[in-house]
Amino acid sequence: MIFGRYEALGHMEDDIIIANYRHILERIEKSIELINQKVALIAVSKGQSVEKIEVLLRKGHRHFAENRIQEALEKWPKLKIKYPDIVLHFIGALQTNKVKEAVRLFEAIHTIDRRNLAEKIAKEITNQERYPLLFIQVNIGEELQKSGVSIVEADSFIEYSINDLKLPIQGLMCIPPIGKSPEKYFKLLKEIAGRHELPCLSMGMSNDFEVAISAGATHVRIGTEIFGER
Ligand SMILES: *Cc1c(COP(=O)(O)O)cnc(C)c1O
Repeated sequence: MIFGRYEALGHMEDDIIIANYRHILERIEKSIELINQKVALIAVSKGQSVEKIEVLLRKGHRHFAENRIQEALEKWPKLKIKYPDIVLHFIGALQTNKVKEAVRLFEAIHTIDRRNLAEKIAKEITNQERYPLLFIQVNIGEELQKSGVSIVEADSFIEYSINDLKLPIQGLMCIPPIGKSPEKYFKLLKEIAGRHELPCLSMGMSNDFEVAISAGATHVRIGTEIFGER
């Protein structure tokens, strides 16, 4: 069979994604060997085409993440019909006017970081009777430009969400500052989660997921190392 140039390149790209994916799985296996812990690999598909996403779906991968509601609505409802067991994670800044769509489409939300957002999510969960896995985002490096509840407010915000709003919060999420050694930030997130007996830690990206796993990550979010540059 003779392939056109474009088609041949397309297949080569698929092979690269599969090779990257297998390599990441191996690296995760290696990291968890010593610590006897389960880790979910979330393939961050923001900015990636449906065609590329389907390469992983055909391999049996099911956890993916998006950071924009509009983009997710364009890509995922059709894929979810074809692959009903997809677990879709929201990892972007969430506006309160997008909460209804977020609760409807996503199986997990990682970025709860303020009271009015938590309140809106609680309301939508009750209305829709849908129960996504919920994470509170902590601004672990206390950076002005980053989202997340501040470290000093984290404990009271977690308690407010769980006790007052009855939100079934399962864990914490963070993005450590760029250019600094991430280990102490991951450890601090684990410490805060421990105070509230929260079992899940969403931390670790392409550049630092092995460090995150050693520090106790249960969910790693990896984009570039699987799909290539966006
Ligand atoms: C984009 C993104 C990732 C993935 O980052 P990579 O460096 O491409 O692995 C993880 N988490 C969040 C919140 C992101 O926005």
